[in-house]
Amino acid sequence: MSATTDELRLLQAALHKHWGYDGFRPHQQAAMQAVLDGRDSVVVLPTGGGKSLCYQAPAVILEGVAIIVSPLISLMKDQVDSLRECGIPAAAVNSSQSAAERSAIAAELRAGRLKLLYVAPERLCTDRMLHFLLELKISFIAVDEAHCISNWGHDFRPEFRLLGQLRNTFPDVAVHAYTATATELVRQDIAEQLRLNDTEFIVGSFDRPNLQYRVMRRQQVKSQIRDVIARHKGESGIIYCISRREVDSTAADLKADGYRALPYHAGLTDIQRVKHQDMFVNDKVDIIVATVAFGMGIDKPDVRFVIHAAAPKSVEHYQQETGRAGRDSLPAECALFYSHGDFMTWEKMQSDLEGDAASQMKASLKLMEHYCSSMSCRHRTLVEHFGQDYDGDNCAACDVCLDQLELVAEPLIVAQKILSCVVRVREMFGAMYVSQVLCGSQEARILENGHDRLSTYNLLGDLHQNVVREWIEQLVGQGCLAKDGEYRTLKVTAFGRQVLKGEAVPRLLQPTKKRAATTSTTSKAAVDEQPFDAGLFEFLRALRKELAEARGIPPFMVFGDVTLRDLARRRPVTAEAFHEVHGVGDRKAAEYGEVFRAAIAEYCTAQQLPTEVAVPKGIVPPVVSERPKDPSERSAAQCTADGYFRSGMMVEQVAVKMSRAVSTTRQYLTEFLRFDRRTSPEPWLDPAVFDRIAVVAADYPDERLKPLFEHFEGVISYDDLRVAMVCLRNRQVTTL
Ligand code: ADP
Repeated sequence: MSATTDELRLLQAALHKHWGYDGFRPHQQAAMQAVLDGRDSVVVLPTGGGKSLCYQAPAVILEGVAIIVSPLISLMKDQVDSLRECGIPAAAVNSSQSAAERSAIAAELRAGRLKLLYVAPERLCTDRMLHFLLELKISFIAVDEAHCISNWGHDFRPEFRLLGQLRNTFPDVAVHAYTATATELVRQDIAEQLRLNDTEFIVGSFDRPNLQYRVMRRQQVKSQIRDVIARHKGESGIIYCISRREVDSTAADLKADGYRALPYHAGLTDIQRVKHQDMFVNDKVDIIVATVAFGMGIDKPDVRFVIHAAAPKSVEHYQQETGRAGRDSLPAECALFYSHGDFMTWEKMQSDLEGDAASQMKASLKLMEHYCSSMSCRHRTLVEHFGQDYDGDNCAACDVCLDQLELVAEPLIVAQKILSCVVRVREMFGAMYVSQVLCGSQEARILENGHDRLSTYNLLGDLHQNVVREWIEQLVGQGCLAKDGEYRTLKVTAFGRQVLKGEAVPRLLQPTKKRAATTSTTSKAAVDEQPFDAGLFEFLRALRKELAEARGIPPFMVFGDVTLRDLARRRPVTAEAFHEVHGVGDRKAAEYGEVFRAAIAEYCTAQQLPTEVAVPKGIVPPVVSERPKDPSERSAAQCTADGYFRSGMMVEQVAVKMSRAVSTTRQYLTEFLRFDRRTSPEPWLDPAVFDRIAVVAADYPDERLKPLFEHFEGVISYDDLRVAMVCLRNRQVTTL
């Protein structure tokens, strides 16, 4: 058995033992491999993608303590509490601790008893702390929320810049950066600021398939909000408003109607804010109504809906705010109710910006407005906004793809009527005026301008003016019209002229829209599709809350919703079956097994339900084993790649043939060499280079690639080293 297989087995064992997980989420394995290899990395995964596990699991199996840099005390506390719940020794040092608490942690560290230490950047980079850490065996340094180091990002924190010096202080310790929001520019900046070497960039898809997006014009916002909440009775959700006043009034309305809702905005005192946030995290209220001020540091995994009662100020904010829904991968709903006035409100609120910042702000608003009125798949639009391709034609998880939008039967004719009216008024008037002309208004201004004599006057007279106004906005959203200058006069764009000529057809929505279907039944992302007993789920949820309260931790730290659903599905009453449930590790099985099993037995007896139900595991994809025994277990793509490699094709050629990234294809090659038990890496690696590696590798038995990489002073790439090592290990296996 090869040592890499050993490492993977150790990782898998740690996942199972501590977290009760059976497999990796996409890219986690590669991210963990970089940590085990001691190779610097930048990992970009969406919110809920499982970034924490990428450093937590390797920290458990590596020798020494991992230093985790994190910007917020609340985030550190949550992570440390969660780790301890899983039986992993971890601690955080921060300013809120007493000297005695801090020296107790120092003693634990000296005794080598901690696997992870969380610390804020400004504290880590004090001379005292650095000197102290130099005495310890550090396994690696992980920087969470790493985009805070870049002033290209949206959340720059100057104290993160201090982290650049870590490379000098700990030249032999690998540094890994994790973030959910990084453009190519920010990614490169992170690597540069942290002075990373030969960085491995691991970038996941920005798509959040378990989120169902819907966008609607704001009409009667109170009832629109209630419609959404009604689909999520007793579940956690966040409602974003633009102003504090709207936050307060919406929260008060909901409260008056009997909902458990609280406000959150910068006008509240610190104490109130912390209290409201804690009540939300601890399931003591279901709904938080908030301004943008709310969210950073909220790791609550079971937020089932995010409502925007008004448009956010950028697509980045929208992605971040909606991203707080469904971190646990279960279906969640994101509803946005907008009005075109929202964008003017944001513009006014940011009117102090000047120069580039002002143009940037306006461009962001425009993109957001475009997203609202666009009729393309929301998942696709978001993914493409962040520079990635979206696979597939129908996401089955947004209003557009679910056909919840009712389209105008002859959009070209309607659009041409509107556009020609804009031309007829010489592109000198705004949306309101144009819609009045089209609907045959008798307004004095129209008559004075003689626009009642235009051929387009009253052309859509059988329709309500608001409908025409809405269509104008949709044409703006689709780039047929542009709004210009202070008075936002309408201009026909080049694309609009194509529409006028009948060369392109826009899409227009009917004023009446179909009601949205409920989230969980329609979402393609219904990852967790197997039925479970809802009554038992609620029963266990109440038990979870009680236990959490007694321990002073948030309920999701006892067990997440995924685990409760799995319990309500399998209904285990024996210790063995309980341990098999998703999310049940050794520690939690010992701590909570008995009480949960008793509750399940009690409920099932009362309801005459069978226990110990056998259900196939299917919530997370199974771990790709390092050397599957049965070829049928390998992915179709891997098998295709195997065929190409067997015929002697080079990595770049295979990448082109398979339309895959070269980095992905290199992984296929490594897997192929392992699977085929190749002992020679020809033709993919020069035999002379292989021989050089083989000679040196014998002196580095600890299996990490970094020492080898350094031995060759970076001249031989990690990819070549990996290929060589697989073949060398295959030689060992063959000779055993
Ligand atoms: P991120 O930091 O990327 O937003 P988290 O690390 O908070 O994501 O993980 C989101 C949720 O997914 C957590 O509840 C976590 O326990 C769960 N999770 C992470 N990795 C796995 C896995 N391999 N299998 C099952 N659940 C996972």
